[in-house]
Amino acid sequence: MLIVMRHGTPQEDIDRVVAIIAEMGYVARPMPGRQRTTVGLVGNDGRVDGSRLEALPGVQEIIHVTKPYKQVSREWKPESTIIRLPGGLSVGGDEVLVMAGPCSVESERQILDAARTVREAGAAVLRAGAFKPRSSPYSFQGLGRAGLRMLARAREETGLLIVTEAMDAEGLDQVLEVADIVQIGARNMQNYSLLKHAGRAGKPVLLKRGLSATIQELLLSAEYILAEGNPQVILCERGVRGFDTVTRNLFDLSAIPVVHGLSHLPIVADPSHGTGHRDMVTPMARAAVAAGADGLLVEVHPTPDRALSDGAQSLYPEQFERMMRETRLIAEAIGRRVAEPVGVRA
Ligand code: PEP
Ligand code: MN
Repeated sequence: MLIVMRHGTPQEDIDRVVAIIAEMGYVARPMPGRQRTTVGLVGNDGRVDGSRLEALPGVQEIIHVTKPYKQVSREWKPESTIIRLPGGLSVGGDEVLVMAGPCSVESERQILDAARTVREAGAAVLRAGAFKPRSSPYSFQGLGRAGLRMLARAREETGLLIVTEAMDAEGLDQVLEVADIVQIGARNMQNYSLLKHAGRAGKPVLLKRGLSATIQELLLSAEYILAEGNPQVILCERGVRGFDTVTRNLFDLSAIPVVHGLSHLPIVADPSHGTGHRDMVTPMARAAVAAGADGLLVEVHPTPDRALSDGAQSLYPEQFERMMRETRLIAEAIGRRVAEPVGVRA
């Protein structure tokens, strides 16, 4: 529920609303705005009787949020959220943020090569996993802490921001030392203890859609992070399991406008995991930007044929360069632009 206060309401009236919400056994989240202050009521699982609040001085109206996710919904916050990142970058506004790099950090040389390559082509964020969720316990599991150190090195060398995955609470604390954006992978989208931990992280979180999660489930998972006090969530469409084997997943392009309608949070697209084949990545990247995606997460490897994970869906450097050129044109056609890497920016 949202309690909308009249323009210019004195602070004591707002404080009274907050106190009464607490008395009713719920949590109040005051949200001062330019036009008016609203006070969110959270902690309810069902409709709350607002009659006591309605009668208080300064209260203009009460809005019942009809969706099961509250703080994530556009009913709660009509204007789109812009998440500010270091170096003047942002996601959720006019700029399309491109995050690119290999699936995994494999060696210092590989990640530095990859970082230079993607930066040269114009990506602003380097992606690569140090902790890898693999289907088989015998597959490469990532370099862990050593991989994080290599990512820190790559940032020092190139100025690229870093997005990398945390698979559990302990790993999250390590990832936070290095990452600008913490990735929560598809397999952990419903790992509620990890989501709560991420809600206390104080850094932006890239939350990937689960392997067979509905859009509502994705938004409810985001709600866990916001409910813990972290409003900086970037959603990511990465395909869901379909019945056809010609693609690795069924890339749900429609999730982009659907999420934009239901939520104020930014949503980016991952056409690499979405399709599983490098030849399909650029067409889907173009389509995602045309559909309004706030960014792209793309796998690029200096030598994809030797990749330790996801080589088949990793772009060759020249393919990525072309993807960037085409993506820029599409972004401009819809009144947006691809974010320039830190250092290149005016
Ligand atoms: C990844 O980004 O490399 C990854 C493991 O993705 P997902 O969680 O979407 O499968
Ligand atoms: Mn991958």
